[in-house]
Amino acid sequence: MEERRGKSILIAGAGPTGLALALELARRGFHSRLVAKSNGPTPVSESRALGVNARTLTLLEASGVSALILAKARRLTQFRISSAGKRLLTIDTETFRGHYCPVHALPQGETERLLLRKLSAFGIVPEWSTEVSTVSGDIEKPVVTLTHAGGLSETVQPDMLIGADGAHSVVRKACGFAFPGNAIESRFFLADYRYTQPVDTGFIEMNFLNPGVLGHLPVNEDTLRYISTIEDFESRIDHPHAVRERTWGSEFGISFRHVETMSRGNVFLAGDAAHVHSPAGARGMNLGIEDACWLAWLISQGREREYSNLRMPAVRTVLKDTRRITTFITLRNPLLTSLRALLLPLVSHVPGFTAAMLRNVSGQDTPPPPWIPNAQ
Ligand SMILES: Cc1cc2nc3c(=O)[nH]c(=O)nc-3n(C[C@H](O)[C@H](O)[C@H](O)COP(=O)(O)OP(=O)(O)OC[C@H]3O[C@@H](n4cnc5c(N)ncnc54)[C@H](O)[C@@H]3O)c2cc1C
Repeated sequence: MEERRGKSILIAGAGPTGLALALELARRGFHSRLVAKSNGPTPVSESRALGVNARTLTLLEASGVSALILAKARRLTQFRISSAGKRLLTIDTETFRGHYCPVHALPQGETERLLLRKLSAFGIVPEWSTEVSTVSGDIEKPVVTLTHAGGLSETVQPDMLIGADGAHSVVRKACGFAFPGNAIESRFFLADYRYTQPVDTGFIEMNFLNPGVLGHLPVNEDTLRYISTIEDFESRIDHPHAVRERTWGSEFGISFRHVETMSRGNVFLAGDAAHVHSPAGARGMNLGIEDACWLAWLISQGREREYSNLRMPAVRTVLKDTRRITTFITLRNPLLTSLRALLLPLVSHVPGFTAAMLRNVSGQDTPPPPWIPNAQ
């Protein structure tokens, strides 16, 4: 064990995945070096992920992060689906039989800061503005060039290199991992609005506009996020109160891609570096944190060579699920959208439908962590 603890571990990326990995290693006595191209964590007002699922809370319980998340996050107690303003389906998350509510809302920037807070207790602080610029040499003993702010460069040769450096991962590209998949035609647009009064933060709503979709979900006590496939969606928003400010807007395309193996030699990939998909289902950050927790556990056991085989089934499951949901919400064919409106009110009566859906959004459709007794 002591010999394993002495291994040098370099983590590229300090998003939710890299931070969770460094923390899970640190609490088991493994020190890592964490470098990130960004100059700090995600600004809270530019948070992509808002949904923290029950699986993540189970995984981050031991580090104490879950308690911090629960103290700040909002429980999402209902999922509502409407068509042209008419309610088709309401799913009550309180029916979920689990230790935690299936999904809580907390901006990604806040989650990252909570991970950073716990990590600092182990004396680990990410080296911000420090970029992995090249990886060369043998994948068993990779040679990594780091470029620091100001252009100073440094060469290191870690025992293990972990690419948690996001969708455009330099580690993945430099180490020759293929990243097959495809982009879909629909583009997504989002806008966050802050209101003059508190908003109802207990639910997510998806409204089919036929064609297109407009969803909204809580960011915090006075801010809602609107997300749509329609470019001029902001004119269709029914604001609950007077707008104080539009805090963020963004536009993004969607690809479904994953690596075929998550490790080669002593190079490992985790999070968006290994898999990207649509935000439907709120899975990306959660899946990255899950990768991180599995990898940290396996490293601590000296079993890191099993990482790819153990994680790929979870990656495939989530990619399949998110693709299915995305196809369903982006339907354009009028016949299919009418059929969708007819069927949705009926599905809640199908035995097992609600339970299966809540199991997916809670993240419990992937293998449970074997190191946590009775984990769901
Ligand atoms: C609109 C939207 C909504 C979303 N909602 C959700 C949600 O509700 N729930 C959910 O679970 N997921 C959601 N996601 C997905 C989620 O945001 C990502 O899956 C998550 O950020 C991935 O985390 P990561 O740490 O793997 O990568 P990132 O967050 O991309 O972090 C990458 C890190 O690597 C660093 N980096 C990059 N290049 C280098 C380099 N060369 N060298 C060193 N460091 C480098 C960056 O500075 C950063 O620190 C959403 C995504 C979008 C677009």
